[in-house]
Amino acid sequence: MGPAIGDRELKRMDPEVAGALELELKREREFVNLIASENYASLAVLAAQGSILTNKYAEGYPGNRYYSGCEAVDIAERLAVSRAKELFGCEHANVQPHAGVQANMAAYVCSLKPGDTMMAMDLTCGGHLSHGAASSFSGKLYKAVHYGVDRETEMIDYDLVAEIARKEEPRLIVAGCSSYPRRLDFEAFRRIADDVGALLMVDMAHFGGLVVGGVHPDPVPYADYVTGTTHKTLRGPRGGLVLTRESNRERLDSVVFPGMQGGPLMHVVAAKAVCFKEALQPEFKLYQETIVTNAKALCEKMGSEGFRIVSGGTETHLFLIDLRQNGLSGKEAQDVLESVGINVNMNEIPYDETPPTVTCGIRIGTPAVTTRGMRPEHMDTLGGLISRALKEREKESVLADVREKVRGLLAGFPLYPELD
Ligand SMILES: *Cc1c(COP(=O)(O)O)cnc(C)c1O
Repeated sequence: MGPAIGDRELKRMDPEVAGALELELKREREFVNLIASENYASLAVLAAQGSILTNKYAEGYPGNRYYSGCEAVDIAERLAVSRAKELFGCEHANVQPHAGVQANMAAYVCSLKPGDTMMAMDLTCGGHLSHGAASSFSGKLYKAVHYGVDRETEMIDYDLVAEIARKEEPRLIVAGCSSYPRRLDFEAFRRIADDVGALLMVDMAHFGGLVVGGVHPDPVPYADYVTGTTHKTLRGPRGGLVLTRESNRERLDSVVFPGMQGGPLMHVVAAKAVCFKEALQPEFKLYQETIVTNAKALCEKMGSEGFRIVSGGTETHLFLIDLRQNGLSGKEAQDVLESVGINVNMNEIPYDETPPTVTCGIRIGTPAVTTRGMRPEHMDTLGGLISRALKEREKESVLADVREKVRGLLAGFPLYPELD
């Protein structure tokens, strides 16, 4: 039991995999992680997720399983469900979806028949593949139509969303995205959905933690289904969840199992319970507030260094930089920054015409560095280092110096010291 990293038995039995885990620990320690969708789970979460509960089949729901011997896992799932309900103030939570995409699939199957129309944010404007992209099951099973952002403001124009909804008459409207730096207006989405008789789903995969922290509007009062992940701003195990009203409980539960999945990952469900307990602590609210102030500080620093910030700023845990005027692609920027010990990801910006493997932007997020203990004053230092690396990327000596300074910065923020 316990975190597998450093586990003697793993080292003895499988030195190659143990080596990969050690390499990953070293990498996580030595890089500044600004990937907006990532975080560092606590040792308590890792302990539950790396536990013997992986051994147990538990098809069904607590008290109503298709296997014997489910007393212990029932305790874990009941805790996860009741804590999720308390955390989000919702009537029902299903904690079994294996990941965010499975949570979305569950909400779609609850709301749509194959061939029905769904409407969601366009991929290049911040939407997600599972929101009806052609390469995703969602774009193959359903007729997907999209709204974007205004070309000038780079923000959602709710009048335009309403207009598209009236024209397309979707059965389901999806609000929520992966790389939109602004808060969402769920009241406006609800009004638009009601206007055309559509259901409303909110995908809070990214900003679920911010909702708990009170620094992002709460979708629960407005949405028919709220989907999310537990591993991004919520800082738990890799997994998904769906929230809904009591009246949708039976439908949702039967769509997840037996509709879409087999045995739930009970070790992950237990780790979700731990994650929700952590998120119920008063410190978690402060953590979420600091994520947002850090994002704002880093965003302002990059702006003052002359970088163009998409939509002119951020109200969340992330922001986007448009690199077109800097003469490098998102991919090149990602590589330069990786070479100095900083991880960001290349990202399409609104109306980006470059391929998604190149892009003309990068996405920067602060959940992980905030977990590590960084504060707005460190964002100023970090922003200066990012700017120097990108602007003077041709100079080896500058890159070496930035790499040294990144190391120096990280020395003040040890990661998983208990694992030594
Ligand atoms: C990350 C994300 C998901 C998918 O989560 P996975 O756990 O990777 O399946 C779904 N929707 C949005 C908006 C996301 O950002």
